[in-house]
Amino acid sequence: MSINHLVRPNILKLVPYSSARSEFKGKAEVFLDANENPFETGLNRYPDPLQWKLKAAISNLKGVPVEQIFLGNGSDEAIDLVVRIFCEPRQDHILILPPTYGMYQVSADIADVGVRSVSLTPDFQPDVPAIVAAADKHSKILFICSPNNPTGNSVDLANIRSLCAQFKGIVVVDEAYIDFSKAASCTSLLAEFSNLIVLQTFSKAWGMAGIRLGMAFTSPEIIQLFNKVKPPYNINQLTQQIALEALETSQDDYKKMLSVLLSERERLTNALAELKFVQQVFPTDANFILVKMDDPNGTYQYLVDAGIIVRNRNSVHLCAGSLRITVGRPEENDALLIALNNRP
Ligand SMILES: *Cc1c(COP(=O)(O)O)cnc(C)c1O
Repeated sequence: MSINHLVRPNILKLVPYSSARSEFKGKAEVFLDANENPFETGLNRYPDPLQWKLKAAISNLKGVPVEQIFLGNGSDEAIDLVVRIFCEPRQDHILILPPTYGMYQVSADIADVGVRSVSLTPDFQPDVPAIVAAADKHSKILFICSPNNPTGNSVDLANIRSLCAQFKGIVVVDEAYIDFSKAASCTSLLAEFSNLIVLQTFSKAWGMAGIRLGMAFTSPEIIQLFNKVKPPYNINQLTQQIALEALETSQDDYKKMLSVLLSERERLTNALAELKFVQQVFPTDANFILVKMDDPNGTYQYLVDAGIIVRNRNSVHLCAGSLRITVGRPEENDALLIALNNRP
């Protein structure tokens, strides 16, 4: 299925900026084409606009072909580009499933694109018939977050498959927390659905939020659109180097961190459930835990006074009474549990 009919007409006919680095292909010794400073500083050259080396390493890790990978300045760049590629301002809209990640709404608001909300069910799954009923020909993008922020649960693969099949626009599945989940990535559905975009990131399990590197996996057709619209050098040289280095030499560190975080998640889950003012610890597939309790605002403030900051989600749809707690290092989690056990 072609997705051209979903793309904004100005983007379809856009002639992208052609950079010096993308125009010349081949080998040479002398580069006088990009107005760079020729003296070697280690960073005097523009970076590879399409990050081929880094994509090859990511392709290897994820089992997705390089021509189905886009890299963004954080997943946030990919979210912003999807909205600008597919949604005509003041005419089209996106669908979101609250409670969910805030950037989908913010990116749409900045682009002057409408937002339709279809609540998750009380067990935090997409309400498939309600989503299908809410959609019309101007519903260009459906954002699904799995595992979902702030609830922590994974969306059932059967629901995602059913939405990819029934929703007539682009389905974005944001898997920022997939490394912490037992559920398989939706990249396994890419061969089946050309309207699917799967987002992942180096910001969470890889411990590299500071380098700003997000990944989008999708059909080669949508990758071409991303590449047309992105700023030419969106991933800087340092980020490309550091990410490549991490993939080549730090996979063991990554696995160690992940295993500590998963066992700490379990320890925190059990200890939180023991607290007398805690009503419910929601099951989580992410590196955070949503906890429903008596007096969430008071507990939030009590923790702030103890120098511990968590996220107050008490006023968020379906999250009344809840704080969202990130799994920290063992000693940080100890400090949290000591504070909570001493709460008057
Ligand atoms: C943290 C998070 C991200 C990560 O965004 P980056 O721009 O890659 O740092 C994306 N989606 C969700 C749902 C998140 O919680």
